Amino acid sequence: MPLSPEQQAEIDAQRAQSHQTLRATAPGMEQHLYTAHPVLDHGFIRVIDYMGDDEAICQAARVSYGRGTKSVSNDEGLIRYLMRHWHSTPFEMCEIKLHVKLPVFVARQWIRHRTANVNEYSARYSILDREFYIPSPDHLNAQSVVNNQGRGEALSGEEADRVLRYLRDDAMRAYDHYEEMISDDGQQGLARELARMNLPANIYTQWYWKVDLHNLLHFLRLRADAHAQYEIRVYADALCKITADWVPFAYRAFEDYRLGGATLSGKALDCLRRMLKGEEVTQETSGMSKGEWREFEGVIG
Ligand SMILES: Cc1cc2nc3c(=O)[nH]c(=O)nc-3n(C[C@H](O)[C@H](O)[C@H](O)COP(=O)(O)OP(=O)(O)OC[C@H]3O[C@@H](n4cnc5c(N)ncnc54)[C@H](O)[C@@H]3O)c2cc1C
Repeated sequence: MPLSPEQQAEIDAQRAQSHQTLRATAPGMEQHLYTAHPVLDHGFIRVIDYMGDDEAICQAARVSYGRGTKSVSNDEGLIRYLMRHWHSTPFEMCEIKLHVKLPVFVARQWIRHRTANVNEYSARYSILDREFYIPSPDHLNAQSVVNNQGRGEALSGEEADRVLRYLRDDAMRAYDHYEEMISDDGQQGLARELARMNLPANIYTQWYWKVDLHNLLHFLRLRADAHAQYEIRVYADALCKITADWVPFAYRAFEDYRLGGATLSGKALDCLRRMLKGEEVTQETSGMSKGEWREFEGVIG
């Protein structure tokens, strides 16, 4: 369960309060504020705070004095222009602060995105909860035979049962020993900062993560992608929905130019032009490597 009744009550109490402000607010984001969106078996993402909206991006781009005088369609057009031409700084004017609960092995991938501010739950000071990510059977897959960095078909039968049993039993045993080691009941009790080293990487941690919109979109492009591991992708997918509600124009432009678009090399563009003129281009005559050609074919369908 991602939240205890006490934690849910705290969130409800915070959502019951409201404040008057002169600052811009995004109605779509106000709906998400503080609410925990469940991810995986015990994880969540919740928005703690945010700054800016679509208009703030345009305001910064125009360096205007007020909220701007241009129409909504001009705003969307400007945002599409900025996205198309990689003008990143106006997107940096918006920020989001999240509270994320995630397995440690997912956190290790997430923390590689250096352009955010992070504060993590201290397992030196506090005791970690007995919460471990155990994949659902349809996400318990064999090693991929085509991609060293991926997974293939779901495990089945006795093997699936055995793997799930190992994951559960090993996690519980490690946590039993963790509790026993830190206990000061009749013994000195090992320091928490040392006892935690015995815990497996599927234990949950938590952090506050603050990032600007430009770097958030960069994170989403890499982690909401099919090449990203499923367990981080589900967090990115949840964040995509939140971002779409927060800055709908910026998100639509991002979806179009980055998630749905593709970058072509000079050679690929040349091949495309030759094909449009009716020439039959093959990998051998393309000047591209086999890998490049495969990806090019993927792009042009
Ligand atoms: C599918 C996938 C597989 C991956 N596999 C591996 C792997 O096998 N091994 C591995 O180690 N990592 C792996 N990574 C992590 C990857 O290499 C990046 O470290 C991670 O995605 C963060 O990207 P970033 O550096 O662009 O993001 P950020 O750290 O948020 O940086 C954003 C941008 O800021 C700039 N920037 C930030 N810091 C610096 C700096 N110090 N100097 C110069 N420019 C900077 C860069 O332009 C960068 O793109 C993988 C990532 C993905 C998505």
